[in-house]
Amino acid sequence: MQKYALIETYGCQQNEADSDKLRGMLLSAGYLPTKERQKADIIIFNTCAVREHAELKVFGNVGALKHLKAKKPSLIIGLCGCMMQQQHRASEILEKHKQVDFILGTHTFPRLLEVINEVQTTGRRVCLIDDSAGEIAEGLPVDRENGIKAYITIMYGCDNFCSYCVVPYVRGRERSRPKEKIIAEAKSLIAEGYKELMLLGQNVNSYGKGLYEDYGFTELLTEIDTLEGEYKISFMTSHPKDAGKKLIDVMAGGRHIARHLHLPVQCGSDKVLSDMNRKYSTAQYLEIVDYARTKMPDVAVSSDIIVGFPTESEKDFEATIDFIKKVRFDALYTFIYSKRKNTPAAEMKPEISKEEKQARIAKLIKTQDEISKEKNQIFVGSEKKVLVYSADENRLTARDDGGRLVHFEGPEELLGKFVTVKVIKAMPHSMLAQLI
Ligand code: SAH
Ligand code: SF4
Repeated sequence: MQKYALIETYGCQQNEADSDKLRGMLLSAGYLPTKERQKADIIIFNTCAVREHAELKVFGNVGALKHLKAKKPSLIIGLCGCMMQQQHRASEILEKHKQVDFILGTHTFPRLLEVINEVQTTGRRVCLIDDSAGEIAEGLPVDRENGIKAYITIMYGCDNFCSYCVVPYVRGRERSRPKEKIIAEAKSLIAEGYKELMLLGQNVNSYGKGLYEDYGFTELLTEIDTLEGEYKISFMTSHPKDAGKKLIDVMAGGRHIARHLHLPVQCGSDKVLSDMNRKYSTAQYLEIVDYARTKMPDVAVSSDIIVGFPTESEKDFEATIDFIKKVRFDALYTFIYSKRKNTPAAEMKPEISKEEKQARIAKLIKTQDEISKEKNQIFVGSEKKVLVYSADENRLTARDDGGRLVHFEGPEELLGKFVTVKVIKAMPHSMLAQLI
């Protein structure tokens, strides 16, 4: 009888990319993907630990699986990803949720099939978490969910230890994949017809560290850009301390490189930036954005901001508001600070009240929405080239080269195609357009 597997992914693109591999391994073992929990023979949650909210969601959703397992005892339930890499969370799940059959960490997930086999043959629960990130597992089967955008992980882990962040603890030290493997993967994805290759790393600008002396991210980007085909290259994420002029020059001279720089600033106060251990100042940040805009007037610059960091005073927060008014980002991803166990910021004082954090994020979002709308307004009446990512009957969703969201009506056959549209209306988070 045909067996089915369901993988639910929480958090960032790196988790999405890991889930593609989990699905790939399951497919190679004969499990077809499903989105229906009732139909699944295996359910896996690929979890996130960056904010508490994501963790609470996992607890809630795992709880809901109890009834399913009672009705179908052969159902296998597994948890993996960043949240599970934390021993205290893994122990909590094992103790409170007996329906969970296995737990895998961020470094052990390539052993998925072996662990499923062990659960099936012994009937015992398995918890496999390893703190030492060993060799990068190459050659795992990958099942990408859509045929348009493909993630390519170029490096794993993070060495930056921003004081609020759990990632270096759950993803381990920086490890880069050999360039030959990356180029070969890019080549075959282009040949398969993928239209966007998104290079992934917690800080792509330190690609190659410890592996090559004179080959880094800009060299990798340049080399991929020489590959022939109709596709674009995007990348995520750049740390402002390492995103230099060389990166901008390569982007500006690129043939396939998206004109989109996602450069998380986190806040607009130098004092808080120092407490966050970000290792750049607002002046240095502005310098790189100015350089990018001079070299590429059409570049889209987006960023991440955290509000309510423990040492963020009212004045610091106002500095952030002034900063975003000055930079005028094209898009902003805003987060309320979430205290993460064992990180340096968890010990910092004072703590900002929940109400204050809510008020700050509301003001931040309102300020940015006005800016985003004004920036999108500039495109009204003009034409732009977009790539169509999804179709709901004849309602198409696309993005331009800067990652800006554009909706328009057109035939489903345009899925995965680059087309030209005329913008007719601007909203803060998207634009409405007409196919021409
Ligand atoms: N390596 C990337 C992404 C890290 S996680 C980078 O440095 O940009 C993505 C975003 O989540 C971060 O940029 C930050 O804005 C946010 N984030 C990380 N830890 C957080 C925390 N403890 N509370 C709230 N937001 C957090
Ligand atoms: Fe976290 Fe900072 Fe590393 Fe990004 S660079 S993953 S925010 S520690």
